[in-house]
Order: sequence, then C-alpha cells, then structure tokens
Amino acid sequence: MKLIKSINPFTDQILKEFVPVSLEEAKSHLVQAHQAFQEWKETPLEKRASLMKKAGEQLRGKKEHYARLISLEMGKVIRESRAEIDKCAWVCDYYADFAADFLQDEPVALPDGKKAKVIHQPLGVILAVMPWNFPFWQVFRFAAPTLMAGNAGVLKHASNVPQCALAIQEVFEQAGFPKGLFQSLLVSSTVTLSLIMEPQVRAVSLTGSEHAGRAIAAAAGKGLKKTLLELGGSDPFVVFADANLEKAVDTAVKARMINFGQSCIAAKRFLIEQSIYKRFIESFQEKLSQLREGDPLDENADYACMARPDLAVDLFNQVKKSRLLGAKIPFGGEKPEQGSPFFKPTLITDIPKNSPAFQEEMFGPVASFFSFESEQEAVQIANATDFGLGASVWTKDPSRAERMSQLIESGAVFINSMVASHPWLPFGGIKNSGYGRELSRQGILEFVNSKTVYLG
Ligand code: NDP
Repeated sequence: MKLIKSINPFTDQILKEFVPVSLEEAKSHLVQAHQAFQEWKETPLEKRASLMKKAGEQLRGKKEHYARLISLEMGKVIRESRAEIDKCAWVCDYYADFAADFLQDEPVALPDGKKAKVIHQPLGVILAVMPWNFPFWQVFRFAAPTLMAGNAGVLKHASNVPQCALAIQEVFEQAGFPKGLFQSLLVSSTVTLSLIMEPQVRAVSLTGSEHAGRAIAAAAGKGLKKTLLELGGSDPFVVFADANLEKAVDTAVKARMINFGQSCIAAKRFLIEQSIYKRFIESFQEKLSQLREGDPLDENADYACMARPDLAVDLFNQVKKSRLLGAKIPFGGEKPEQGSPFFKPTLITDIPKNSPAFQEEMFGPVASFFSFESEQEAVQIANATDFGLGASVWTKDPSRAERMSQLIESGAVFINSMVASHPWLPFGGIKNSGYGRELSRQGILEFVNSKTVYLG
C-alpha cells in the first residue's frame, strides 16, 4: 500500500507517513458527516456564527503552529504562511458576520398580486478536493461559507499536505463544531472518484489543475452531482505606457513571485506596450534579482523552493520546449538538479504562439513577456488563451480601463492592482479556468437549494 507522505521539500526529509483511508472506511465517514448534517442544518445561524468566530480565534491563537506546518509541507516562506492563516481567520469572521444576511428569505411580489419567496436551504455533505499551493486558504474559503450555509464538509486534500489537512479538521473540532461535521479524509484520488457516487455527497468543489477538473467533473456528471471548479490560469498583466511604471513593475514582480509563482491567479503573461517594453523588462529583472532566496522558515527569505521536485521538472520542461520553439530566455532558465525542488526565477521573451509559454499555465517563477502596439492587440493577446481567471490592467486612462475590463475574457479584472482573492468579492473563472464562484454572497449560494415557495 502506498503511504501518504508528509515531506519537507526544502530538506527532502520525511516528516510523517500516513496509511491512506480505504474506500470502506471513507464511506463510513460520509455517513457520520451526513448524521452531523441532520443536526447542523437545524442549528440556528447565530450559533453557527459563534462557532465560526471561534474557528477564526483558533487560527489566530495557533497561527505560528499552523504557519510552520504550511512552510514545512510545501515550502512557502513563513511570512506568507502567516499571512495565509490571517486570511483564513478573516474569511471565518466574514461569513460569521454576513451569512445570516446572505441567506435571508427573499420575498417576491408577482405581477398578478400573488406572493412567493425564495428560501436558501443547505444541500448536505459537500466534498472538497483541494490543492497544496495555499493549503489552508483554499480549504477555508470553501469551508466557511459551506458550513455557515448549514452543510457538512468532507475534505480530500492534496497528498503532499496531509498534516495541514488534519490540522484544519482540528481547527473546527477545537472551535466546538459538532463531531463529524468537517472531516479530512486521507484518501487517494481513486477513492475520491468513488466517493463522489455515494448518496450522501451532494456536490463537489475542486481547486486544482485542468486535468483534475476534467476527472472530477466527469465523475460528478455520472453521479449527477453539482460541481464548482476553480482551475488554472494564465493571467495577463497588461501595462500601457501611461501607467505608473515604478508601481507597475513592483507589483508585477510581486504578482508573479507570490507563493514562488505557484498560484492560480499569479500574473503569468506580461503584456507591455511597445514603447516601454525594454525598460519594463530591465526593471523587472533588476527587482527580481533583489529578492532573497532562503529556507522557508527564514524570516528574511522572499522565496524558497517549489512544493515538490516533479513540479520543478514540469516547469523546466515547459521552459525548455518554449526555447526549442524559438523563445528567448534572457534570465534564468537553468535546469534544476535531479530530484531538486529548487528553481531559478526565469524570464521568457519572443514567445511563439505554439509554445507552452504561450499556451499553458506556467505554475512557478517564470514570467513570459509580450509586447503590443494597440489596445486591440493587447486584448487579442490577453484573450488568446484557453484560460480566463483574473487580469490586471495598468493605465491612468479611466475610459481605457473601462474598455479593457469589458473586453478581457476573465472572471475578474483588477485595474492598477494585482489580482487577489478577497472575501467580499466573487472569485472564479471562465473558459478552462472553471466555473462557479467562491467568496462573497455568490460563494455561499453555490451550495444551497434556493427553493421557490409560492403562496397561492
Ligand atoms: P492537481 O490538480 O493534480 O491536484 C489538486 C487536487 O486534486 C489534489 O487534491 C489531488 O490529489 C486531486 N486530484 C488530482 N487528480 C485527481 C483525479 N484524477 N481524481 C480525483 N482527485 C484528483 O495538482 P498537482 O499537484 O498535480 O499540480 C499540477 C498542476 O496543477 C500545477 O502545476 C498547476 O498547473 C495546477 N494547479 C493549479 C492550482 C490552482 O490553484 N488552480 C493548484 C494546484 C495545482 P492528489 O494530491 O492525491 O493527486
């Protein structure tokens, strides 16, 4: 049997090993979750909110412990891990404060004088399949609205972050949530696909790759279960010559390098107006060179390593293939050592249309540069991808900003700012970046039955 291993990617040390949960055991956990749901759905919203507040307190109280777990299991630098825990506490508070408003009955006055209303009821057990890149945040932005709506949650976390998975269950247990209401099951992908067919599972939420999205959506389709998919991105960061260049460059480096580039909404393709193209790349490279490499636990490190050695290999192969097809690599591009998660930040220019740097998601510290001469060309390059998650546009011209917001195909456009998720704002993509929305009022309404009640 293949054990689930918690490995520190920076040192390659095995931290812990776990025996995976079998399908039969997992099914009995689903039954427990369903039982917990029966009681939870009748629990008043004020009570649910007070427990969700406690979950936030629990996160803040043990911030250092949870942040270290993140850094140790997936190599994120400790300052970013702490910020991730803070953000999880924020989303707990947000839904504790606003869920009652969001879930209020909606009266409808019909034109014939009759009345109706829409009520929002929980669905049952929701299965979450989550990735390793923000191992706490991705789960909390699912769990806070889902539980507040009255559902139960079962988590299949990425296999390389089992300790984070168990710690998240602990957060909810220690906050006082009913036993079984939120469970982390250390199961394989194969078991996960079987679980989707179980009657207790009413819907599935996935954050991860396109490949995982297709597998989960196919299984859910077979079982007629609703899915929410938050997949990859190849987000454009578009800079016009009239933008505040210094701020744009600073933000561009941050937007590409956050989480060592392993973020779905990281800026991946930099579209720069021709007249400032050369200057922009030079400043970008200079700022990038100033970032400090170090141990994930080093307070001063800006980046450490990829979450797994295979991810470094995949990324290098994308760079190599792009180069073979004609792209230029003015900075970085070195091959990672065998079995190593270390990766030198890399810039790519002169990118051919058929290369991975143009077509695929580059999930790591690789910035791809394109130049454009007109607004129309910028839109055309921005949209020439199968993805559509979040775009960032830099200009001082409000009417141009408005036009670009309308024309770019994505789930979000941020003007003069990097794309970020925020509890108050809907988050999700279009095209191969997925469907459905997390966060905000829309996020909590994804996993409810919005039931029409007609009063004759
Ligand atoms: P995956 O998308 O494969 O993993 C995400 C989650 O899905 C994990 O829990 C994984 O479990 C699970 N999963 C994967 N395949 C299946 C399947 N067939 N059936 C059921 N569950 C499945 O991410 P990887 O770690 O392999 O990363 C590969 C690429 O995915 C990255 O390079 C990046 O492009 C993209 N990615 C995008 C993310 C985003 O935020 N949009 C996040 C992470 C990755 P297990 O770990 O057991 O395989």
